Amino acid sequence: MSTQHEAGVATAHRVLILGAGYAGMAAAIQLAARVGRREAVQVTLVSAQERFTERLRLHRTATGQRLAERSVPELLAGTGARFVRGWVTALDADAKTVRVDDNRVLHYDTLVYGLGSVADTAAVPGVEDYAYTLNSVQDAELLADRLARLGSGTVVVGGSGLTGIESAAEIAERHPELDVVLLGRQEPGATTTPRVKAYLRSALDRLGVRVRSGIEVVRVRPDSVELASGENIAADIVLWTSGTRASQLAAAAGLSVDESGRIVTDTVLRSVSHPDVYAVGDAAAIRQGYGVMHGTCQGGMPTGVHAAVAIVRALKGKKPRPFRFGYYHTPVSLGRHDAVVQFTHPDDSPRRMYLTGRSAVWYKETVSASPWPTYVRMKRMPSSGAFWPRGGRFTRVRGAR
Ligand SMILES: Cc1cc2nc3c(=O)[nH]c(=O)nc-3n(C[C@H](O)[C@H](O)[C@H](O)COP(=O)(O)OP(=O)(O)OC[C@H]3O[C@@H](n4cnc5c(N)ncnc54)[C@H](O)[C@@H]3O)c2cc1C
Repeated sequence: MSTQHEAGVATAHRVLILGAGYAGMAAAIQLAARVGRREAVQVTLVSAQERFTERLRLHRTATGQRLAERSVPELLAGTGARFVRGWVTALDADAKTVRVDDNRVLHYDTLVYGLGSVADTAAVPGVEDYAYTLNSVQDAELLADRLARLGSGTVVVGGSGLTGIESAAEIAERHPELDVVLLGRQEPGATTTPRVKAYLRSALDRLGVRVRSGIEVVRVRPDSVELASGENIAADIVLWTSGTRASQLAAAAGLSVDESGRIVTDTVLRSVSHPDVYAVGDAAAIRQGYGVMHGTCQGGMPTGVHAAVAIVRALKGKKPRPFRFGYYHTPVSLGRHDAVVQFTHPDDSPRRMYLTGRSAVWYKETVSASPWPTYVRMKRMPSSGAFWPRGGRFTRVRGAR
């Protein structure tokens, strides 16, 4: 732990990165690899856990499947970057300090804010009290334990977005003894082509998932969910995946945030209100030519890399370049033996091309497994992490080089 960070008497430029998720890890490794052990820059990564959370695979954790242990401090070893394990409890953007576990104060010159997002449990009464989430490994393990002990009964998955689909499919496949109901406003795969939608639907049917669309959940109770129509659906377990919100810390510190609490950034990924704060991943509201990006790993890792490169350029007195990103796919697992991959245009609208079945399972697994080896590679060769689709005409900024 850096005394310079705690005492605030640094001579080095202190870069503090909050959150060792997909985006924060990309920023930390990329920056550490680029600045090396240079005295002039000190990189510190703060996060709740030493173990890297593979959020993309938490639906597997939630069904009792064990994932590889990945140690963040071990990956950082030898880079010169430090790791601080702790829960960030406050940010003071004027004093440029971050409070960790209420009792430690870390100072920064540049902050990278990558605290991710969680399921929005505040929008519907009862969700906070009675529903499970996939916000962390601990949450997923709690659900796994409850599912394993249930024996028989009904699991309601609230939210028919990708996390809801993947979770419902995984639970139905691992627990054929349970009745799984997937509830959502929209039908599963609403943004995909009709063929992909049909494939998703038939896969969910095959797994025994009962899909109900056009549904508004208005309350979650200990043993049921209430719909806007007045109907009650009996539920032994409710898993909530609908909507996301970012941590309150940025808003509380007076940074400009959007309605979900995400930090509003400029084209370089700096906060529009506090330019010494970069925002990355799900915690950032990043506007591209096609609109504001939505939270994904495919877009989150590039934001982390870009922030690191922008910081290095700024430290050298060079002008940072605008961030550009175009989506390219939506891979969806349907249990362990099936999947579908919808290829997309840079604005996330669906292309005609898609994969299903075994090739889609292979594709999805390859993508989900790729972040960690990417970090390992970046540690030796930072430029290897700097390739992603920039989005062509969908993201071109007039006048920018
Ligand atoms: C089940 C599931 C499946 C998904 N599948 C896909 C997919 O197939 N493809 C895709 O692109 N996206 C997928 N996503 C979304 C993807 O996981 C997120 O977009 C991605 O994790 C965002 O990365 P991030 O680094 O911004 O945040 P995260 O990965 O959430 O990391 C945030 C980090 O900050 C830490 N943290 C948060 N608050 C604090 C605090 N106060 N103090 C200390 N540490 C803190 C957390 O512990 C975590 O380590 C899926 C999500 C889920 C839940």
